[in-house]
Amino acid sequence: MSDNLEHVKCLIIGSGPAGYTAAIYAARANMSPVLYQGTQPGGQLTTTNEVENFPGYPEGITGPEMMVELRKQAERFETDVRDGWITKIDFSGDVHRVWVNEEKEILCDTVIISTGASAKYLNLPSEQKYLQLGGGVSACAVCDGFFYRNQEVVIVGAGDSACEEAHYLSKLCKKVTMLVRRDEFRASKIMEARVKNTANIEILFNTETEEVLGDGSVVTGVKVKNNVTGETQVIPATGFFVAIGHKPNTDIFKDFLELDSVGYIKNVPGTSKTNIPGVFVSGDAADKVYRQAVTAAGTGCMAALDAERYLAAKEAFIEA
Ligand code: NDP
Repeated sequence: MSDNLEHVKCLIIGSGPAGYTAAIYAARANMSPVLYQGTQPGGQLTTTNEVENFPGYPEGITGPEMMVELRKQAERFETDVRDGWITKIDFSGDVHRVWVNEEKEILCDTVIISTGASAKYLNLPSEQKYLQLGGGVSACAVCDGFFYRNQEVVIVGAGDSACEEAHYLSKLCKKVTMLVRRDEFRASKIMEARVKNTANIEILFNTETEEVLGDGSVVTGVKVKNNVTGETQVIPATGFFVAIGHKPNTDIFKDFLELDSVGYIKNVPGTSKTNIPGVFVSGDAADKVYRQAVTAAGTGCMAALDAERYLAAKEAFIEA
């Protein structure tokens, strides 16, 4: 085959905990996986400081360090980890076709999608500044809430995620101020009731963030504005949590795979199988509920095992 055409047994798209775990399992099963890292090698964890809830790291580990370790483990079993961005796919045939950087074409017996999801941010310059500095802006309360024990935090959003995260934070933090931009929640009634009935959660309706305030390295407060009265106020806080939704990175698959209304890939419950035989999904690209490194790793393992069984069944059929 030419340099621009290649045949692989197992192609893994994405380099977060789901992709690398799929690679470790696929490599150990002699599937010679090729993994394309995408534009954010290491995935969402590379924007997290300290990971303290992944089993096996009693002292914790930084997100970027953990991704380096996962990559090393995948490469130890000869996963071919490559730079590159998948720009086009065609899952209409028996062999799946995938294009890298619009140049190279790969024919794949199996494809494992681990493209993840991206947290949405407000995109205020002050929010992005403290996010980049690792100084108090987070889109994951379960990952980072622990660092704000007994402190005051602000959370933005009014969906189920925001309610769940505000409630989680309320058990750790002295006070949680929740900023809701309309005069009502989007969340389910039960989740709304839970935050309303929690003593240390204060809900500010019709309230939007104007600026995340800080001392140049960490967050010290949040300037907010009531969009009905025009009044502004400063809320003291050391943590600013954004819970306004995630966008699964699945646009490229929409013509072939069944997605839900938000864009998450639908899997056959209890498996990593998609609606296309030989195409499997793992991690946040199919998970709007748990979104944890450890659950992503778990589903990465499932995808590799499902892919291996799919190939074995196909080979047995050809031999028969
Ligand atoms: P949603 O899209 O449901 O909610 C996003 C929230 O963020 C909305 O309240 C929205 O406000 C608000 N928002 C969006 N942009 C801004 C902005 N720029 N400034 C301020 N607020 C903003 O996302 P979720 O992540 O909460 O949920 C996604 C899906 O996952 C839902 O279907 C949900 O039910 C599900 N889910 C289920 C869980 C469970 O079952 N345990 C847990 C978490 C999520 P507005 O309402 O004004 O548009």
